Amino acid sequence: MDDTKEIMPSRLTGLTQAVVENAIERAFRVWSDVTPLTFERVFEEEGDIVLSFHRRDHGDLYPFDGSKDHFAHAFLPGPGLGGNVHYDLDQTWTDSSENFNLFYVTAHELGHALGLTHSKDEEALMFPNYTWDNKDFVLNQDDINRIQALYGPSQNPMQLTGATLDPCNSGLTFDAITTYRGEVIFLKDRFLIRVISFLPEPLINEMDLIWPNLPGKFDAAYEPSVVDELRFFKGSKVWAVQEQNVLEGFPMDIHSYFGFPSNVTHIDAAVCEEETGKTYFFVDHMYWRYDENTRSMDPGYPRLIAEDFPGINDKVDDVFQKEGNFYFFHQSIQHRFNLQTRKIEDSGDFSTWFNC
Ligand SMILES: [Zn+2]
Ligand SMILES: [Zn+2]
Repeated sequence: MDDTKEIMPSRLTGLTQAVVENAIERAFRVWSDVTPLTFERVFEEEGDIVLSFHRRDHGDLYPFDGSKDHFAHAFLPGPGLGGNVHYDLDQTWTDSSENFNLFYVTAHELGHALGLTHSKDEEALMFPNYTWDNKDFVLNQDDINRIQALYGPSQNPMQLTGATLDPCNSGLTFDAITTYRGEVIFLKDRFLIRVISFLPEPLINEMDLIWPNLPGKFDAAYEPSVVDELRFFKGSKVWAVQEQNVLEGFPMDIHSYFGFPSNVTHIDAAVCEEETGKTYFFVDHMYWRYDENTRSMDPGYPRLIAEDFPGINDKVDDVFQKEGNFYFFHQSIQHRFNLQTRKIEDSGDFSTWFNC
């Protein structure tokens, strides 16, 4: 998302073109200052974010009517109208504390264009009500946390350049794959590819930006359904993480934490079944089942993978759950295993996750 086109009939807004351009530029800077995102104004092509002024009915489902409670709107990222910002031309746009300050409204609407919903924090830019007195603008910590949860913080130049990791390279294999709060996260070396339902393309982040205290190159990762955490495995160690923090006491030993026998020296793959809170740990051709509610291994394990997951005959490299399916990966092949029918329903590669 680095292309922007601005259509600004500044004549009609009562502001000079220079004032309008300055307000828009500052509004973009609000977000680029705290994320790795960069924005560039484009003239020859259609930008990812198009800003435009309209009056009344203007071809989407949100006609303006000149009223003070609907003066602008924006669309979450996506194709077509996605990421675009519309302003009501029948309002007065200002660079002062009078309604409506073009900079402030634009900064708020760009938050939506970048994927943010409204905040409950009254001090936040993304709070739904327009209240601003034109004092020095400082982006609220709640806004910073929420935008950085999507794009990561700003220290390093990013990653979206493609020089780092090409998700559409068909030979790609992953260290681990897990869900987290509705995202699917593919881990590879020092990188993560995040598939977020409302973003048209996957995000590629450097792990250092999000989890500077984790080693990377993990064997396995999973999201327990009973607690808001992620667990990462490397050798016989487990790290538990909440948002960007490694929880106290971690890394821990998998033998003492989960109750694995001493001959288990690593985990190939892990997934927690949402509905039951049972976690499946795959090691070579066997699997263990752990109960997240009682925090103990279920008796009767390990069992043969191929016996209970017919068709999964190889070692499992990665696994995660999406809806009622376990997605098993061996090298770059994916098998979708339906948990109801207990059958592989299709096989292919992972490129469909990345919109390749
Ligand atoms: Zn509109
Ligand atoms: Zn809003």
